[in-house]
Amino acid sequence: MVSRILASEERIFMKNKKILITGAAGFIGSHLCDRFMAEGYQVIGMDNLITGDLKNIEYLFKEKNFEFFHHDVSSFVYVPGHLDYILHFASPASPIDYLKIPIQTLKVGSLGTHNLLGLARSKKARILVASTSEVYGDPKVHPQTEDYYGNVNPIGPRGVYDEAKRFQEAITMAYHTFHGIDTRIVRIFNTYGPKMRLNDGRVLPAFIGQALRGEDLTIFGDGSQTRSFCYIDDLIEGIVKLLFSDYTYPVNIGNPDEITIKEFAEEIIRLTGTKQKVVYRPIPEDDPSQRKPDITKAKEILGWEPRVSRKEGLEITYSYFKSLPEEELHKTEHHTFKDYIR
Ligand code: UDP
Repeated sequence: MVSRILASEERIFMKNKKILITGAAGFIGSHLCDRFMAEGYQVIGMDNLITGDLKNIEYLFKEKNFEFFHHDVSSFVYVPGHLDYILHFASPASPIDYLKIPIQTLKVGSLGTHNLLGLARSKKARILVASTSEVYGDPKVHPQTEDYYGNVNPIGPRGVYDEAKRFQEAITMAYHTFHGIDTRIVRIFNTYGPKMRLNDGRVLPAFIGQALRGEDLTIFGDGSQTRSFCYIDDLIEGIVKLLFSDYTYPVNIGNPDEITIKEFAEEIIRLTGTKQKVVYRPIPEDDPSQRKPDITKAKEILGWEPRVSRKEGLEITYSYFKSLPEEELHKTEHHTFKDYIR
């Protein structure tokens, strides 16, 4: 376990600190809820559950420090009482999700961010927004440094996500410089770990799901495109360090250990012991051909770097997926609010 858990005296001090986490039922948001609950914060989780799954946080419902608001942050956000911190992690984040719900993707990154910046301003809260390596598009600079402006197609299928996140960065900086809001921007690279949705379409759950169901692994294109996968605990640690730093420009958080998708498929075949083969499918439009974070800034400013190797992280993640009930493997939908109300 990489996360640092506070000593009990520190937790008492934290007791009145209140944090709002949007996208709380999603993959990263749910891990952030766990982390801040473990550190003794009062946590408000917010989610509209279009891609999030309440299963990810249901065990927190009994905790008195935890509250859940079923709300879409693209509409005005109301939170009673004071707030110290806001983490804006609500957004569809896998390419098939934002193909299915492009308008909501644009709205949550733009209108949602605007609402949360307004909330941060009225509560005098610090806000950290989740940006993405997708702001670099199909990058011509490798590895990607924070000062690279990117190569994004605004009207392609990924444009709804990429441009919403680029707008998010712009409006966050504008609120910082014009209104003096205390802001942080994290650019998240490919991340994986327990609580990812098996059916979210991303390469890791896709390959592991296929192996578990005894299907062939689908490689898009020739598999020569690269990605660099970061284990969730490392990402969470980086986000926490950024939140408590005083650095207001974007910071890349990711694991620079780069691999081709073809090699990655071979790793998953070895890990799962599946007897299936790989099959090739057409490459989706604007699929970036390479991606690897330059994490010099995170190392120098935050003293952060990833610690979990892909081998170790994949084993933990595979055990998680294997532990899910059989029906989860075949599910196309996820748990929604109506599953939790009578
Ligand atoms: N990919 C693949 N097979 C799949 C799903 C994805 O080969 O079943 C590829 C995809 O084309 C991309 C890479 O894996 O090049 C990572 O895709 P993912 O959807 O995980 O996220 P991205 O990094 O593209 O946002």
